[in-house]
Amino acid sequence: MLESTWQWFLGGGSQQILLTAIVFLLIGVFLGARMRSPREDKQADAANRGDSSFFKGVQYLLSNDHDQAIEEFTKSVQVNSDTIETYVTLGNLYRSRGDIDRAIRIRQNIILRPNIDEQIKIGALFDLGQDYRKGGFLNRSLRTFLQVSQKNPGDVRTLKEIERIYEGLKDWENAYATRQKIARLEKGHHEHILAHHLVEAGKVCQENEDVVKAKTLFNKAISTQKQCVDAYLHLGDLHFERQDYKKAIAAWKKVAEAAPHFTFLAYGRLEGAYTRMKNLEPVEVFLKECARLNPDAFTHMALARYLYSKNDVAGALKEINSALALNPGFWEARRFRGQMFLNGGAEEDILADYGEIIEGLNIPYLRFRCVQCGFEPSELLWQCPQCNRWDTIGLINGKEAPSIPFINKI
Ligand SMILES: [Zn+2]
Repeated sequence: MLESTWQWFLGGGSQQILLTAIVFLLIGVFLGARMRSPREDKQADAANRGDSSFFKGVQYLLSNDHDQAIEEFTKSVQVNSDTIETYVTLGNLYRSRGDIDRAIRIRQNIILRPNIDEQIKIGALFDLGQDYRKGGFLNRSLRTFLQVSQKNPGDVRTLKEIERIYEGLKDWENAYATRQKIARLEKGHHEHILAHHLVEAGKVCQENEDVVKAKTLFNKAISTQKQCVDAYLHLGDLHFERQDYKKAIAAWKKVAEAAPHFTFLAYGRLEGAYTRMKNLEPVEVFLKECARLNPDAFTHMALARYLYSKNDVAGALKEINSALALNPGFWEARRFRGQMFLNGGAEEDILADYGEIIEGLNIPYLRFRCVQCGFEPSELLWQCPQCNRWDTIGLINGKEAPSIPFINKI
Protein backbone atom coordinates (compact mmCIF):
# COMPACT_ATOMS: atom_id res chain seq x y z
CA MET A 1 0.00 0.00 0.00
CA LEU A 2 2.71 2.46 1.03
CA GLU A 3 4.70 1.74 -2.13
CA SER A 4 1.77 2.28 -4.44
CA THR A 5 0.87 5.46 -2.58
CA TRP A 6 4.42 6.75 -3.00
CA GLN A 7 4.47 5.96 -6.73
CA TRP A 8 1.16 7.66 -7.10
CA PHE A 9 2.42 10.81 -5.36
CA LEU A 10 5.31 10.95 -7.82
CA GLY A 11 2.77 11.14 -10.62
CA GLY A 12 1.81 14.74 -9.79
CA GLY A 13 -1.07 16.65 -11.36
CA SER A 14 -3.73 18.89 -9.84
CA GLN A 15 -6.38 16.17 -9.63
CA GLN A 16 -3.93 14.12 -7.59
CA ILE A 17 -3.07 17.01 -5.32
CA LEU A 18 -6.77 17.32 -4.49
CA LEU A 19 -7.03 13.59 -3.88
CA THR A 20 -3.93 13.66 -1.69
CA ALA A 21 -5.68 16.19 0.49
CA ILE A 22 -8.79 13.98 0.61
CA VAL A 23 -6.81 10.89 1.55
CA PHE A 24 -4.84 12.64 4.28
CA LEU A 25 -8.04 14.09 5.65
CA LEU A 26 -9.78 10.70 5.64
CA ILE A 27 -6.90 8.97 7.36
CA GLY A 28 -6.69 11.81 9.89
CA VAL A 29 -10.37 11.61 10.75
CA PHE A 30 -10.14 7.80 10.81
CA LEU A 31 -7.21 7.70 13.23
CA GLY A 32 -8.85 10.37 15.40
CA ALA A 33 -11.98 8.25 15.67
CA ARG A 34 -9.93 5.14 16.53
CA MET A 35 -8.07 6.93 19.30
CA ARG A 36 -11.24 8.26 20.83
CA SER A 37 -12.91 4.90 21.02
CA PRO A 38 -10.90 1.90 22.21
CA ARG A 39 -12.82 -1.34 21.65
CA GLU A 40 -13.31 -4.61 23.46
CA ASP A 41 -11.38 -7.61 22.07
CA LYS A 42 -14.35 -9.41 20.52
CA GLN A 43 -15.22 -6.32 18.55
CA ALA A 44 -11.68 -5.95 17.33
CA ASP A 45 -11.95 -8.60 14.61
CA ALA A 46 -14.95 -7.00 13.02
CA ALA A 47 -13.20 -3.68 13.32
CA ASN A 48 -10.13 -5.02 11.56
CA ARG A 49 -12.24 -6.35 8.73
CA GLY A 50 -13.73 -2.88 8.52
CA ASP A 51 -10.24 -1.39 8.51
CA SER A 52 -9.12 -3.54 5.58
CA SER A 53 -12.12 -2.33 3.57
CA PHE A 54 -11.29 1.18 4.64
CA PHE A 55 -7.73 0.94 3.32
CA LYS A 56 -8.93 -0.74 0.13
CA GLY A 57 -11.28 2.22 -0.24
CA VAL A 58 -8.34 4.59 0.13
CA GLN A 59 -6.46 2.65 -2.53
CA TYR A 60 -9.36 2.85 -4.95
CA LEU A 61 -9.54 6.53 -4.24
CA LEU A 62 -5.87 6.86 -5.09
CA SER A 63 -6.35 5.05 -8.38
CA ASN A 64 -9.23 7.39 -9.17
CA ASP A 65 -11.86 4.64 -9.01
CA HIS A 66 -14.36 6.55 -6.92
CA ASP A 67 -17.27 4.13 -7.31
CA GLN A 68 -15.23 1.15 -6.07
CA ALA A 69 -13.89 3.34 -3.28
CA ILE A 70 -17.42 4.13 -2.14
CA GLU A 71 -18.27 0.43 -2.20
CA GLU A 72 -15.32 -0.45 0.04
CA PHE A 73 -16.03 2.42 2.41
CA THR A 74 -19.64 1.23 2.64
CA LYS A 75 -18.41 -2.23 3.65
CA SER A 76 -16.06 -0.66 6.16
CA VAL A 77 -18.89 1.31 7.73
CA GLN A 78 -21.03 -1.82 7.94
CA VAL A 79 -18.57 -3.59 10.23
CA ASN A 80 -16.88 -0.70 11.93
CA SER A 81 -18.96 2.26 12.96
CA ASP A 82 -15.78 4.22 13.77
CA THR A 83 -15.29 4.78 10.08
CA ILE A 84 -18.67 6.52 9.66
CA GLU A 85 -17.12 9.87 10.42
CA THR A 86 -14.58 9.38 7.63
CA TYR A 87 -17.34 8.28 5.29
CA VAL A 88 -19.36 11.42 6.08
CA THR A 89 -16.24 13.48 5.43
CA LEU A 90 -15.83 11.80 2.06
CA GLY A 91 -19.45 12.66 1.22
CA ASN A 92 -18.83 16.29 2.13
CA LEU A 93 -15.74 16.34 -0.07
CA TYR A 94 -17.69 14.97 -3.03
CA ARG A 95 -20.35 17.62 -2.46
CA SER A 96 -17.80 20.41 -2.28
CA ARG A 97 -16.36 19.17 -5.61
CA GLY A 98 -19.84 19.28 -7.14
CA ASP A 99 -20.03 15.47 -7.36
CA ILE A 100 -23.56 15.44 -5.94
CA ASP A 101 -24.53 11.94 -7.13
CA ARG A 102 -21.71 10.30 -5.19
CA ALA A 103 -22.36 12.46 -2.11
CA ILE A 104 -26.04 11.41 -2.19
CA ARG A 105 -25.10 7.73 -2.52
CA ILE A 106 -22.92 7.96 0.58
CA ARG A 107 -25.72 9.52 2.67
CA GLN A 108 -28.21 6.94 1.47
CA ASN A 109 -25.80 4.13 2.39
CA ILE A 110 -25.54 5.50 5.92
CA ILE A 111 -29.30 6.09 6.30
CA LEU A 112 -30.24 2.63 5.03
CA ARG A 113 -27.73 0.85 7.25
CA PRO A 114 -29.45 -1.10 10.05
CA ASN A 115 -28.49 -0.71 13.73
CA ILE A 116 -26.97 2.64 13.20
CA ASP A 117 -27.07 5.31 15.88
CA GLU A 118 -30.14 7.53 15.43
CA GLN A 119 -28.17 10.77 15.71
CA ILE A 120 -25.78 9.62 12.95
CA LYS A 121 -28.77 8.84 10.73
CA ILE A 122 -30.27 12.26 11.38
CA GLY A 123 -26.89 13.80 10.59
CA ALA A 124 -26.74 11.88 7.29
CA LEU A 125 -30.27 12.99 6.47
CA PHE A 126 -29.25 16.60 7.07
CA ASP A 127 -26.23 16.14 4.78
CA LEU A 128 -28.52 14.60 2.17
CA GLY A 129 -30.74 17.70 2.35
CA GLN A 130 -27.69 19.85 1.68
CA ASP A 131 -26.60 17.63 -1.23
CA TYR A 132 -30.06 17.94 -2.82
CA ARG A 133 -30.01 21.70 -2.38
CA LYS A 134 -26.52 21.96 -3.88
CA GLY A 135 -27.72 19.81 -6.79
CA GLY A 136 -30.69 22.15 -7.34
CA PHE A 137 -33.35 19.63 -6.24
CA LEU A 138 -35.15 22.09 -3.98
CA ASN A 139 -38.32 20.09 -3.39
CA ARG A 140 -36.43 16.94 -2.48
CA SER A 141 -34.13 18.97 -0.26
CA LEU A 142 -37.13 20.54 1.49
CA ARG A 143 -38.74 17.15 2.11
CA THR A 144 -35.48 15.85 3.58
CA PHE A 145 -34.95 18.82 5.90
CA LEU A 146 -38.58 18.59 7.04
CA GLN A 147 -37.93 14.96 7.98
CA VAL A 148 -34.87 16.04 9.98
CA SER A 149 -36.89 18.75 11.68
CA GLN A 150 -39.61 16.31 12.58
CA LYS A 151 -37.07 14.10 14.34
CA ASN A 152 -35.24 17.04 15.85
CA PRO A 153 -37.69 19.98 16.16
CA GLY A 154 -35.38 22.18 18.21
CA ASP A 155 -32.55 22.22 15.66
CA VAL A 156 -32.19 25.80 14.44
CA ARG A 157 -29.66 24.85 11.75
CA THR A 158 -32.25 22.66 10.03
CA LEU A 159 -34.97 25.28 10.41
CA LYS A 160 -32.68 27.83 8.73
CA GLU A 161 -32.13 25.45 5.82
CA ILE A 162 -35.91 25.00 5.53
CA GLU A 163 -36.47 28.74 5.62
CA ARG A 164 -33.84 29.25 2.94
CA ILE A 165 -35.59 26.79 0.62
CA TYR A 166 -39.00 28.33 1.22
CA GLU A 167 -37.46 31.68 0.34
CA GLY A 168 -35.95 30.19 -2.80
CA LEU A 169 -39.34 28.75 -3.75
CA LYS A 170 -40.98 32.11 -2.92
CA ASP A 171 -43.26 30.31 -0.46
CA TRP A 172 -43.36 33.32 1.84
CA GLU A 173 -46.05 32.12 4.21
CA ASN A 174 -44.07 29.02 5.11
CA ALA A 175 -40.83 31.02 5.24
CA TYR A 176 -42.56 33.31 7.76
CA ALA A 177 -43.87 30.38 9.84
CA THR A 178 -40.38 28.86 9.87
CA ARG A 179 -38.75 32.11 10.97
CA GLN A 180 -41.30 32.31 13.79
CA LYS A 181 -40.11 28.90 14.99
CA ILE A 182 -36.48 30.06 14.76
CA ALA A 183 -37.36 33.21 16.73
CA ARG A 184 -38.74 31.08 19.53
CA LEU A 185 -35.52 29.06 19.70
CA GLU A 186 -32.83 31.64 19.08
CA LYS A 187 -32.27 35.01 20.72
CA GLY A 188 -31.63 37.99 18.47
CA HIS A 189 -33.37 40.20 15.94
CA HIS A 190 -35.90 38.40 13.81
CA GLU A 191 -38.42 41.22 13.27
CA HIS A 192 -36.83 42.55 10.08
CA ILE A 193 -36.82 39.09 8.50
CA LEU A 194 -40.43 38.40 9.55
CA ALA A 195 -41.43 41.80 8.13
CA HIS A 196 -39.72 41.04 4.79
CA HIS A 197 -41.51 37.70 4.54
CA LEU A 198 -44.84 39.45 5.12
CA VAL A 199 -44.06 42.12 2.52
CA GLU A 200 -43.04 39.52 -0.06
CA ALA A 201 -46.26 37.59 0.62
CA GLY A 202 -48.14 40.88 0.24
CA LYS A 203 -46.45 41.57 -3.11
CA VAL A 204 -47.65 38.20 -4.41
CA CYS A 205 -51.21 39.06 -3.29
CA GLN A 206 -50.88 42.46 -4.94
CA GLU A 207 -49.86 40.82 -8.21
CA ASN A 208 -52.86 38.51 -7.95
CA GLU A 209 -55.08 41.52 -7.27
CA ASP A 210 -55.99 40.36 -3.79
CA VAL A 211 -55.81 43.94 -2.52
CA VAL A 212 -57.38 43.35 0.88
CA LYS A 213 -54.96 40.58 1.84
CA ALA A 214 -51.99 42.51 0.43
CA LYS A 215 -52.89 45.56 2.52
CA THR A 216 -53.28 43.44 5.65
CA LEU A 217 -49.87 41.86 5.08
CA PHE A 218 -48.11 45.20 4.46
CA ASN A 219 -49.65 46.64 7.63
CA LYS A 220 -48.71 43.54 9.58
CA ALA A 221 -45.13 43.94 8.31
CA ILE A 222 -45.06 47.53 9.55
CA SER A 223 -46.36 46.56 12.98
CA THR A 224 -43.75 43.77 13.06
CA GLN A 225 -40.92 46.13 12.21
CA LYS A 226 -41.48 49.87 12.07
CA GLN A 227 -38.41 50.45 9.87
CA CYS A 228 -39.55 48.14 7.09
CA VAL A 229 -39.05 50.52 4.15
CA ASP A 230 -40.29 48.04 1.58
CA ALA A 231 -43.64 47.73 3.40
CA TYR A 232 -44.26 51.51 3.27
CA LEU A 233 -43.27 51.67 -0.40
CA HIS A 234 -45.59 48.86 -1.44
CA LEU A 235 -48.46 49.95 0.78
CA GLY A 236 -48.17 53.33 -0.94
CA ASP A 237 -48.01 51.68 -4.38
CA LEU A 238 -51.15 49.74 -3.58
CA HIS A 239 -53.04 52.93 -2.68
CA PHE A 240 -51.58 54.66 -5.75
CA GLU A 241 -52.85 51.91 -8.06
CA ARG A 242 -56.30 52.42 -6.60
CA GLN A 243 -55.89 56.17 -7.19
CA ASP A 244 -56.05 56.87 -3.49
CA TYR A 245 -53.19 59.36 -3.79
CA LYS A 246 -53.48 60.88 -0.33
CA LYS A 247 -53.07 57.53 1.39
CA ALA A 248 -50.26 56.63 -1.01
CA ILE A 249 -48.39 59.83 -0.16
CA ALA A 250 -48.92 59.29 3.58
CA ALA A 251 -47.39 55.79 3.32
CA TRP A 252 -44.38 56.89 1.22
CA LYS A 253 -43.63 59.85 3.45
CA LYS A 254 -43.26 57.50 6.39
CA VAL A 255 -40.07 56.18 4.77
CA ALA A 256 -38.45 59.51 5.70
CA GLU A 257 -39.22 58.86 9.38
CA ALA A 258 -38.51 55.13 9.35
CA ALA A 259 -35.21 55.18 7.46
CA PRO A 260 -34.14 58.66 6.28
CA HIS A 261 -31.26 57.31 4.16
CA PHE A 262 -33.78 55.42 2.00
CA THR A 263 -36.08 58.41 1.45
CA PHE A 264 -34.84 58.69 -2.14
CA LEU A 265 -36.86 55.56 -2.92
CA ALA A 266 -40.01 57.59 -2.28
CA TYR A 267 -39.12 60.70 -4.32
CA GLY A 268 -40.10 59.43 -7.75
CA ARG A 269 -43.27 57.91 -6.38
CA LEU A 270 -44.26 61.11 -4.59
CA GLU A 271 -43.64 63.19 -7.68
CA GLY A 272 -45.83 60.81 -9.69
CA ALA A 273 -48.66 61.11 -7.21
CA TYR A 274 -48.53 64.88 -6.94
CA THR A 275 -48.40 65.15 -10.73
CA ARG A 276 -51.59 63.10 -10.93
CA MET A 277 -53.09 65.38 -8.30
CA LYS A 278 -51.88 68.33 -10.42
CA ASN A 279 -50.36 69.89 -7.35
CA LEU A 280 -46.60 69.83 -7.11
CA GLU A 281 -46.37 72.36 -4.31
CA PRO A 282 -46.22 69.76 -1.50
CA VAL A 283 -43.32 67.99 -3.28
CA GLU A 284 -41.18 71.08 -2.84
CA VAL A 285 -42.13 71.43 0.82
CA PHE A 286 -41.40 67.77 1.44
CA LEU A 287 -38.11 67.73 -0.46
CA LYS A 288 -36.87 70.89 1.26
CA GLU A 289 -37.72 69.36 4.61
CA CYS A 290 -35.85 66.18 3.61
CA ALA A 291 -32.86 68.22 2.44
CA ARG A 292 -32.80 69.95 5.82
CA LEU A 293 -33.10 66.74 7.85
CA ASN A 294 -31.07 64.43 5.64
CA PRO A 295 -28.94 66.45 3.25
CA ASP A 296 -27.77 63.67 0.97
CA ALA A 297 -26.96 63.76 -2.74
CA PHE A 298 -30.23 62.04 -3.71
CA THR A 299 -32.34 64.65 -1.97
CA HIS A 300 -30.48 67.51 -3.67
CA MET A 301 -30.88 65.70 -6.96
CA ALA A 302 -34.63 65.22 -6.43
CA LEU A 303 -34.98 68.88 -5.55
CA ALA A 304 -33.00 69.84 -8.67
CA ARG A 305 -35.34 67.83 -10.89
CA TYR A 306 -38.34 69.36 -9.25
CA LEU A 307 -37.04 72.95 -9.59
CA TYR A 308 -36.03 72.34 -13.21
CA SER A 309 -39.54 71.11 -13.99
CA LYS A 310 -40.74 74.47 -12.64
CA ASN A 311 -38.25 76.25 -14.96
CA ASP A 312 -36.14 77.38 -12.00
CA VAL A 313 -32.84 76.68 -13.78
CA ALA A 314 -30.65 78.60 -11.34
CA GLY A 315 -32.24 76.84 -8.34
CA ALA A 316 -31.86 73.44 -10.03
CA LEU A 317 -28.20 74.09 -10.83
CA LYS A 318 -27.51 75.05 -7.22
CA GLU A 319 -29.02 71.78 -6.01
CA ILE A 320 -27.11 69.68 -8.53
CA ASN A 321 -23.88 71.35 -7.52
CA SER A 322 -24.68 70.53 -3.88
CA ALA A 323 -25.33 66.91 -4.85
CA LEU A 324 -22.01 66.71 -6.72
CA ALA A 325 -20.13 68.41 -3.88
CA LEU A 326 -21.35 65.63 -1.59
CA ASN A 327 -20.74 62.90 -4.11
CA PRO A 328 -18.49 63.76 -7.08
CA GLY A 329 -19.10 60.40 -8.72
CA PHE A 330 -22.89 60.71 -8.77
CA TRP A 331 -23.29 60.19 -12.52
CA GLU A 332 -27.05 60.64 -12.50
CA ALA A 333 -26.49 64.21 -11.29
CA ARG A 334 -23.71 64.80 -13.81
CA ARG A 335 -25.87 63.59 -16.67
CA PHE A 336 -28.72 65.81 -15.57
CA ARG A 337 -26.45 68.87 -15.32
CA GLY A 338 -24.99 68.06 -18.74
CA GLN A 339 -28.48 67.88 -20.24
CA MET A 340 -29.36 71.19 -18.59
CA PHE A 341 -26.28 72.87 -20.08
CA LEU A 342 -26.92 71.39 -23.52
CA ASN A 343 -30.51 72.62 -23.38
CA GLY A 344 -29.51 76.22 -22.90
CA GLY A 345 -26.29 76.72 -21.02
CA ALA A 346 -23.38 78.94 -21.90
CA GLU A 347 -20.51 77.54 -23.93
CA GLU A 348 -17.98 77.99 -21.12
CA ASP A 349 -20.22 76.01 -18.73
CA ILE A 350 -20.37 73.13 -21.20
CA LEU A 351 -16.60 73.15 -21.62
CA ALA A 352 -15.96 73.30 -17.87
CA ASP A 353 -18.43 70.44 -17.34
CA TYR A 354 -16.73 68.38 -20.03
CA GLY A 355 -13.35 68.94 -18.36
CA GLU A 356 -14.72 67.81 -15.00
CA ILE A 357 -16.22 64.67 -16.52
CA ILE A 358 -12.93 63.68 -18.08
CA GLU A 359 -11.17 64.21 -14.78
CA GLY A 360 -13.74 62.10 -13.01
CA LEU A 361 -13.54 59.16 -15.37
CA ASN A 362 -11.23 57.28 -13.03
CA ILE A 363 -13.76 57.30 -10.19
CA PRO A 364 -14.73 53.72 -9.53
CA TYR A 365 -18.29 53.08 -10.54
CA LEU A 366 -19.80 51.15 -7.69
CA ARG A 367 -23.26 51.13 -6.28
CA PHE A 368 -24.44 48.66 -3.63
CA ARG A 369 -22.61 46.22 -1.45
CA CYS A 370 -23.56 43.55 1.07
CA VAL A 371 -21.92 44.32 4.41
CA GLN A 372 -22.07 40.63 5.25
CA CYS A 373 -20.38 39.03 2.26
CA GLY A 374 -19.27 41.91 0.04
CA PHE A 375 -21.52 41.01 -2.88
CA GLU A 376 -22.25 43.99 -5.15
CA PRO A 377 -25.61 43.74 -6.88
CA SER A 378 -26.45 46.15 -9.69
CA GLU A 379 -29.63 47.26 -7.95
CA LEU A 380 -30.86 47.52 -4.40
CA LEU A 381 -32.05 44.15 -3.10
CA TRP A 382 -33.45 43.51 0.36
CA GLN A 383 -32.07 39.97 0.48
CA CYS A 384 -28.52 39.30 -0.61
CA PRO A 385 -28.50 36.65 -3.36
CA GLN A 386 -25.07 35.49 -2.27
CA CYS A 387 -25.30 35.07 1.51
CA ASN A 388 -29.10 35.12 1.76
CA ARG A 389 -29.12 37.60 4.65
CA TRP A 390 -31.83 40.23 4.79
CA ASP A 391 -31.10 43.98 4.97
CA THR A 392 -27.35 43.63 4.60
CA ILE A 393 -27.10 45.45 1.26
CA GLY A 394 -26.39 49.13 1.61
CA LEU A 395 -25.22 52.06 -0.44
CA ILE A 396 -21.54 52.46 -1.00
CA ASN A 397 -20.57 55.77 0.49
CA GLY A 398 -17.62 58.08 -0.03
CA LYS A 399 -16.18 58.95 -3.39
CA GLU A 400 -17.54 55.87 -5.04
CA ALA A 401 -20.64 56.56 -7.01
CA PRO A 402 -24.10 55.38 -6.26
CA SER A 403 -26.39 55.91 -9.19
CA ILE A 404 -30.07 55.49 -8.54
CA PRO A 405 -32.58 55.86 -11.32
CA PHE A 406 -34.96 58.58 -10.22
CA ILE A 407 -38.05 56.57 -10.99
CA ASN A 408 -37.27 53.69 -8.71
CA LYS A 409 -37.57 50.06 -9.62
CA ILE A 410 -37.80 48.56 -6.13
ZN1 LIG B 1 -24.41 39.05 1.22
